[in-house]
Amino acid sequence: IIHYGEIALKGGNRNFFERKLKENVKGAIQGIEIEGIERLRGRMLVHLSNNRDNETVVEKLSKIFGITNFSFGVAVAKDLDAIKRAAWFLLKEKKFTSFKIETRRAQKEFPKTSMEVNIEVGAYVQEQCGQRVDLTNPEATCYIEIAGPYALLYTKKIAGPRGLPVGVSERAVSLISSGIDSPVASYKMLKRGVDLIYAHFHSQPFTSKTSQENSERLIKILNRFQLRAKVYFIPFIGIQKEIMAKAPPELRVLLYRRYMIRLAERITKIEKAKALVTGESVGQVASQTLSNIRVVGVVTSLPILRPLAGYDKEEIIQLAKDIGTYKISIEPYDDCCSLFVPNHPETSAKPETLSKAEKLLDMNTLMDRAMEDAEVKILHSKD
Ligand code: ATP
Ligand code: MG
Repeated sequence: IIHYGEIALKGGNRNFFERKLKENVKGAIQGIEIEGIERLRGRMLVHLSNNRDNETVVEKLSKIFGITNFSFGVAVAKDLDAIKRAAWFLLKEKKFTSFKIETRRAQKEFPKTSMEVNIEVGAYVQEQCGQRVDLTNPEATCYIEIAGPYALLYTKKIAGPRGLPVGVSERAVSLISSGIDSPVASYKMLKRGVDLIYAHFHSQPFTSKTSQENSERLIKILNRFQLRAKVYFIPFIGIQKEIMAKAPPELRVLLYRRYMIRLAERITKIEKAKALVTGESVGQVASQTLSNIRVVGVVTSLPILRPLAGYDKEEIIQLAKDIGTYKISIEPYDDCCSLFVPNHPETSAKPETLSKAEKLLDMNTLMDRAMEDAEVKILHSKD
């Protein structure tokens, strides 16, 4: 029994949101034997077969954004005797000295009120076990929901990840390095329902293949939340060489970033994406002062989402650990942008300075070639 909070609030879009959630749940539990999934008045019912492995189900569902909580339960007919027996069937498996019955009706046409169901089922359970009812601090609770053709009963709520189902919030291109921040930024946007396409820039053969491989491993971890994603691996060394040869060293990183944004914008056109995502956090490094964030951002009219803008490093690291990306992100690699970076990069660049520097660069062909030589892959979830 799957409950979803936020999406139930979204009025006219509700049907679309529920369909997406159902699709995502279906995808996540692929391989687990089920008899069907039902949408049922603000909740979803997954009919599992008896030989399922509950732990795997928990593992999968706890990564589906949009789910507030879920429970293993039983569905019986909307008949008070059947409900009483089912309540006792679930409660007798538990150890408790006090209990409560908590009923909700999705359909008010059920002949008894929630309170009446609580009292009658409570009395029946008390007869069976002799334990007392405690409404404020019970050791066991049996939840009853009257919904559609069923009475649904369960005794434990397992927390879901909340957020919105991936895919309900249109599409963005996420610039993913193999560092700590961009995978966390991507996670944050997936949690808001954004469907992500990834772009990774590499400097092979100047650097080893590690940064690309690590970004691929990171995306596979993020795909536990998205199930599958397309990635563009874009060769960047040609553009870097042109910058290194002709631009002032203190502007290099900013120029790299501006060309990354421009190339990512080309991907948004191919993929019909509406925004870009980066892992920038204000003030974290020299290239992320507000001035520099600005001079990079001005090269596109697309919104650049920076979900980590207001986070400090400790918070980001904790999130990376929770998501499961941290270990890969701290593995050593030679990032395309740590190559040939001066000791004193510009920290308060002006747009004019960069435009001027770019006039000396001959980038059109190099950018076309980077796109032509991009390797595009579809990656699936790690497990
Ligand atoms: P991260 O931890 O994500 O690597 P960072 O703290 O190293 O970020 P920067 O190197 O300034 O910060 O990069 C800022 C953002 O630019 C990154 O979060 C990412 O979105 C993007 N970016 C940097 N390098 C690459 C790359 N090689 N490929 C794709 N995107 C990149
Ligand atoms: Mg980095």
